[in-house]
Amino acid sequence: MHTLQTCQQLDATDPLAALRDQFTLPEGVIYLDGNSLGVLPKTAAARVAEAVTEEWGQGLIRSWNSAGWFSLPQRLGDKIARLVGAKPGELVATDSTSINLYKVLSAALHIAGEDAPARKLIVSERSNFPTDLYIAEALCKERGYRLQLVEPDEIAAALTPEVAVLMLTHVNYRTGAMHDMAAVTAAAHAAGILTVWDLAHSAGAVPVDLNGAGADFSIGCGYKYLNGGPGAPAFVWVHPRHADRFWQPLAGWWGHASPFAFTPDYQPAPGIGRYLCGTQPILNMTALDCGLDTVLAAEPLGGMAALRAKSLALTDLFIALVAQRCGGHGIGLATPRDHAARGSQVCLTREHGLGGADSGAFAIVQALIARGVIGDYRAGDGGAHKDILRFGLTPLYIGFADVWHAVEHLRQVLESGEWQQPAFNQKHAVT
Ligand SMILES: *Cc1c(COP(=O)(O)O)cnc(C)c1O
Repeated sequence: MHTLQTCQQLDATDPLAALRDQFTLPEGVIYLDGNSLGVLPKTAAARVAEAVTEEWGQGLIRSWNSAGWFSLPQRLGDKIARLVGAKPGELVATDSTSINLYKVLSAALHIAGEDAPARKLIVSERSNFPTDLYIAEALCKERGYRLQLVEPDEIAAALTPEVAVLMLTHVNYRTGAMHDMAAVTAAAHAAGILTVWDLAHSAGAVPVDLNGAGADFSIGCGYKYLNGGPGAPAFVWVHPRHADRFWQPLAGWWGHASPFAFTPDYQPAPGIGRYLCGTQPILNMTALDCGLDTVLAAEPLGGMAALRAKSLALTDLFIALVAQRCGGHGIGLATPRDHAARGSQVCLTREHGLGGADSGAFAIVQALIARGVIGDYRAGDGGAHKDILRFGLTPLYIGFADVWHAVEHLRQVLESGEWQQPAFNQKHAVT
């Protein structure tokens, strides 16, 4: 039996508890949405202000050199590399996740087209994040490929001789289910298939070892668990065995071997440098730098392994408390109980019928937000994929008592039926 007291005891002995002091969190808020937009590092406001007033205001164009603006994609890339099992110089911070996916998927199709031209399929998961599926669909049209969507348990059987690329998101945004990257990559390679891994819900959330898994291509997001702020640059990694083989399709001048030679022809930079395109958003990169430092601050305390241990303890506690205290309201669990198959979020379902045709999941989340417990809702498809109440548990700033209070609010929202108020059923542009 968990009680508020046992949760408070866990906080008192948590070796990572002090990391929370790195952040500015609003009073009265339990923030369970760091998987969508990470929180504000205390250093970011002053650091971005300095970049504006000193580097831009006083340094002006000199700051490309004197403030190190030009090398930010590589310098931030080297920090991210430490979190995802990449080596220095193998990864850059740049552009958005969607754009980086376009680059790497395009390069993967080039390689497959040369090495195995008869393979004309890209395989992905039906419940992959839509932008990944849309980008793949667009590239399929452009290059004469077909996108085949499967359920997670159908992936192994889908690795046929027709498949060129397996494109997966490591931790599923809707369910929090995590793939075994090493095992899936090995199975794909054994079948002659290249892998593209989206780490949007993994980088800074779970230990990742891109080189250890022998992955081919990877991308990920800067504004989720890396706390880089809204619109923060994403990242892109390509295994060195592939990095020099092809131009990526957005061959802009920042990816040129010597951009300031201003030659009319394109000469790609060696390695990952060619995955840059054009001028970077320096102010956003400055904020991302602060966000990365908040995650790297865990390194002396055990790094991603220690964050992972706490994340699993938090998600275990959340799952146990929901079972213990929220019974009888049609709440189910979409996230795997198996630690090896779980990311850093807990996703709940709600049975249709109890709230009429509507599952009530959206309104329950709105009622929680009104109480200061910020999670989010992801719509189902009316079929096998149910409406989801999603709660990201970020061990950098969430404690065990926070989990207790969040589940207590959920219990009260369900028992009181307050979620049925019309105000909580009003949908806005962003859910
Ligand atoms: C959040 C997320 C994205 C976001 O892409 P943007 O280009 O930053 O909008 C992409 N893929 C996955 C799997 C995500 O979770």
